[in-house]
Amino acid sequence: MPQQVAIESLSHDELVEAHANLSAQYADLVSTGLTLDLTRGKPAPEQLDLSNDLLSLPGGTDAKDGSGTDCRNYGGTAGLPELRAIFSELLSVPAPQLVAGNNASLEIMHDLVVFGLLHGTPDSERPWSAEPVVKFLAPSPGYDRHFAITESFGIEMIPVPLGADGPDMDVVRELVAADPAIKGIWTVPTYANPTGAVYSEEVTRALVEMPTAAPDFRIFWDNAYAVHTLVDEAPPAHDIVGMAAAAGNPNRPYVLASTSKITFAGAGVSFFGASAANVAWYQEHYSKKSIGPDKVNQLRHVRFFGDADGVRKHMAKHREILAPKFDKVLQILEARLGGTGVATWTTPEGGYFISLDVVPGTARRVVQLAKDAGIALTAAGSAFPYGRDPQDTNIRLAPSFPSLDDVAASMDGVATCALLAAVEARLT
Ligand code: PLP
Repeated sequence: MPQQVAIESLSHDELVEAHANLSAQYADLVSTGLTLDLTRGKPAPEQLDLSNDLLSLPGGTDAKDGSGTDCRNYGGTAGLPELRAIFSELLSVPAPQLVAGNNASLEIMHDLVVFGLLHGTPDSERPWSAEPVVKFLAPSPGYDRHFAITESFGIEMIPVPLGADGPDMDVVRELVAADPAIKGIWTVPTYANPTGAVYSEEVTRALVEMPTAAPDFRIFWDNAYAVHTLVDEAPPAHDIVGMAAAAGNPNRPYVLASTSKITFAGAGVSFFGASAANVAWYQEHYSKKSIGPDKVNQLRHVRFFGDADGVRKHMAKHREILAPKFDKVLQILEARLGGTGVATWTTPEGGYFISLDVVPGTARRVVQLAKDAGIALTAAGSAFPYGRDPQDTNIRLAPSFPSLDDVAASMDGVATCALLAAVEARLT
């Protein structure tokens, strides 16, 4: 099919011809026998290499932190103060209210939901599990593993449209004001997975100020990509904990983050920030499952980063590796699909993903065509609660892990699949 021609404008005969051409292109693609994977937002090996010094830290025999704590021993459920101070600056959470944990923030999120269900929060009349029904708002497209946590506990998810600066607050306000069963909202405020949305200060303020029917409503503020910029500077993290306190809802936000995509994705450190009451509540329940986090790993990270600027400088090195891959995806999408009316996509300024919307009703077909051509894409619909994209339009692209050449080959293939599926859909 001719490039940059809107498929809407093609006559039936032209569509038949385009279909024949694209089918031939697709057959060529299949015959090249690719095995490419754009499924998960994992750091590439060269990105992991940036943190190899961690493998020889803390180094020597000095395993004491700045305050003299022997990190080899039990204790210190809040984590090392020096590490908390570094990330306090980056996440805009006061260090005394920021806990440093083990290698996965997802684990903390899971704990927060479980503790809410089994014990209730400091503001709950009863444990969430004693309620007839518990619901969460799910700005979509969103992060599939968030949705998996709530789905696994039978928490009903209500999708809310996500714009470039946060969820549609008219919808959010109306829902939470009316329904006391709505206990939480999943958010990724900076460079959201998968759209790259960055929550504005206005949206953040509205979230902490809005009246909610549930007194124990919680914002899961998963700032997983707070410092993961592809441009010169990441936007400063909103002080959501302070804003919530000023709004009279101090316990509403739970701030989450980790170094999974800063240092090692399987061996980083995680963070939980909130009001003093929430942190005390979390630690009370957490202390039943652990005598303390891996402080040796935390010490490694303190020595590796030095300070918050050390983290920013380190992220600039990630950017050098990641930005060309994102540019490549955008360049190929524009060259192959621009002007065809077959797709729209996001141009994120950070994070790990590009969100591609193909012709409604064809996302599953595109993913299947790509799979049959050896290009693994995240399952269509996975960025929506229950894996159900009502429009069957969204595909999450994760260009970080493959090499630049593989990113290019994959995206060229995906573009062929998107065009073929669009023409098929017009012909049926
Ligand atoms: N939150 C978001 C929004 C993510 O995209 C990811 C990983 O892709 C995570 C959390 C996982 O974080 P962690 O490795 O700290 O569990």
